[in-house]
Amino acid sequence: MTRIAENISLVLEQIQRFERQYAREPGAVKLLAVSKQQHAESLRCAHAAGLVDFGENYLQEAEEKIAALADLPLIWHFIGPIQSNKTRGIAAHFDWVHSVDREKIARRLDEQRDPALGRLNVCVQINLSEESTKSGTALADCRSLCATVSTLPNLCLRGLMAIPAPLTDFDSQRQSFHQLAAEFTALAAVHPTMDTLSMGMSNDYEAAIAEGSTLVRIGTALFGARSRSQ
Ligand SMILES: *Cc1c(COP(=O)(O)O)cnc(C)c1O
Repeated sequence: MTRIAENISLVLEQIQRFERQYAREPGAVKLLAVSKQQHAESLRCAHAAGLVDFGENYLQEAEEKIAALADLPLIWHFIGPIQSNKTRGIAAHFDWVHSVDREKIARRLDEQRDPALGRLNVCVQINLSEESTKSGTALADCRSLCATVSTLPNLCLRGLMAIPAPLTDFDSQRQSFHQLAAEFTALAAVHPTMDTLSMGMSNDYEAAIAEGSTLVRIGTALFGARSRSQ
């Protein structure tokens, strides 16, 4: 379990190094620990090592961990594909959702969010590679989806998220993140609540930080390889 603490300090050092290298403000990039398929005890270790933001993809698995870790002041982010029948649980148990990709889901989350919990923070997920198998709204449709989210009283439009097609070459990684960053800049000029550009995972977070990411979603580099690939 000290391995998790070591990995966290390595990744945090890397983030700081990339912030300096690409002329980002110190502290501009937040680390979201992607804890899907990890046991609650591993999250406890990550929290002891200083992390508070955790990302989960599967509602049922997440609800079990959220209950098991209710004694810790954690911030929960839902980052997986959203089926309509999952919106109620997401609205009840999460602080953030990064994967809103259609109006129907946004409206359901808004209706089902208890106003006493405060607004649910929302990033709109964009499908950069336009692969039909991947979730996310097409770049061409994201402006109208952001406009809708911004009018819903129990949601707060915070930003954009994308999972680009896996590329190993650094310049190609930068190119896809650059597209998302350009869209983010244009939208944030219209929607002042937008402050979050959720991009970058274990294999491409340097390119994401170079292109303006404000939140990297890291699983493998913190917790090691997962048993099932997701
Ligand atoms: C699994 C996952 C990650 C983390 O991926 P790693 O390569 O393990 O860092 C980030 N974002 C989303 C949406 C994921 O599903």
